[in-house]
Amino acid sequence: MTGGALLADVATAAAAQPTETEWAAALAAVTELPTDGRVLLICHVNPDGDALGSMLGFGLGLRRLGVRPLQATFPGRPEVPEPFRTMPGLDLLVPASEAYPDPDLVICFDIAAVSRLGDLVDRLDRAGASLVLDHHASNTRFGRINLVDPDAAATSVVVEQLLDRLGAPLDREIAECLYIALATDTGSFRFDMTTPAVHEMAARLLATGLRPGEISRRIFDTRPYGAVRLYGDVLARTQLEPLAVDGLGLVWTYATLEDLDRHGQRPYTLEPLIDSVRCTAEADVSFVLKQVAEAEWAVSMRSKGATDVSRVAVALGGGGHRLAAGFTAYGSVPDVVDAIRAELGRGAVDPGQTGPNLQDQ
Ligand code: 5GP
Ligand code: MN
Repeated sequence: MTGGALLADVATAAAAQPTETEWAAALAAVTELPTDGRVLLICHVNPDGDALGSMLGFGLGLRRLGVRPLQATFPGRPEVPEPFRTMPGLDLLVPASEAYPDPDLVICFDIAAVSRLGDLVDRLDRAGASLVLDHHASNTRFGRINLVDPDAAATSVVVEQLLDRLGAPLDREIAECLYIALATDTGSFRFDMTTPAVHEMAARLLATGLRPGEISRRIFDTRPYGAVRLYGDVLARTQLEPLAVDGLGLVWTYATLEDLDRHGQRPYTLEPLIDSVRCTAEADVSFVLKQVAEAEWAVSMRSKGATDVSRVAVALGGGGHRLAAGFTAYGSVPDVVDAIRAELGRGAVDPGQTGPNLQDQ
C-alpha cells in the first residue's frame, strides 16, 4: 500500500465513531460465547499504562461476569515494567508462548495495527471471533468487530463503556486499572483531550476508593537511581535543530543498549524519556531513538501542536496520534534521523496550527 493510501485510511478512521451496530456486535461476541469458550486478551508489544490497564481492567470485568477460561498476554518478552507490577489482574497474564492457540474470542487493546501483535498475529485468523478496542485514529480496523473511538482519550474510555453495557460492576480493582490507563494517556490529565467527560470518568473511578497520589507516585514518579543517571547521559547528548521543521524546531536524542547496560537498566526504563526531551521550548517536534537491537530502534515522536507526527510515523511503518506517534526504524542513528527529517519535510506541518512558543501541551 502506498503512503497516500495509508494517509487516506487515517483520515477516514478519524471521522468515524463506533456505531450502535458495532456496539451490539461487541456485546454479542461476549454474551453469546459458547459455554467454556476461551477468551484471549492481547495488548500491544512493550505495553504502556493504557495497554495493560485497559486489558487487565476488561479482563477483571469479564471475570466478574463469570467468563472463564480467560487469558491476557502481549507479544515479545513476557516482562511487565516495574511500575505496573502491582496492577490488579496481573494473575490473568500468561507468556505469549502459552496463549490459547485457537481461542473462541480474541480481544485486542490499544493496538492500532497488526504489526503491534508480533507473533500473536496468527491468533486473529485462528480465533472464532475477534474484537478490537482502541482509540488510535490510525487504527486499520483489523478485527471482525471494531470499537475504535478516535475521540477517546484512552482505550480505557472504550473499555469502561463496554463493561457498562455488559453490566459488569465497577469495583476498585477494575477502577485502578482503568485509572492508570486514563492517567497515562492524558499525561496525568494535562493534555488537550482531557475533556469534562474524562474528568467525569476519573471521578467515577476515584469514587471506588482509589488513592490517586499513591498511584501517581508508584506509576509515574518512581525510578531507580541508575535510571536517573542513565537519563543524565542520554539527555546530555540531546540535539536541538532550531531551523528544522519549517523553523518550528526539532529536538532529539538516542539511547543505546550499551547505555542501558552501563546503568543496569531494563529497556522499559526509557519509556518516559521523551517527556524530558519534548519540553524543549525551542522545538515543536521531538523524538527519541531507543535501541532494540544492533541496527533496530523504537522511535517515539511528539509535537506540541503544529505538526502531525502520526503522518511521519505511518509513512515510516508505524502509527499513533497527531501529537504522539511511533515506529520501528532500521539502520544507524544518522540514517534514522535523516529518514525522519525527510518525512517531516513532506508536509507534516499544518500551517494553520500554532508553533511551539504559542502552545501549551
Ligand atoms: P510511545 O512513543 O509512547 O511509545 O507511543 C506513542 C504513540 O504511538 C502510541 O499511541 C503508540 O501506540 C504509537 N506507537 C508507538 N510505536 C509504534 C509502532 O511501532 N507502531 C505503531 N503502529 N504505533 C506505534
Ligand atoms: Mn492508548
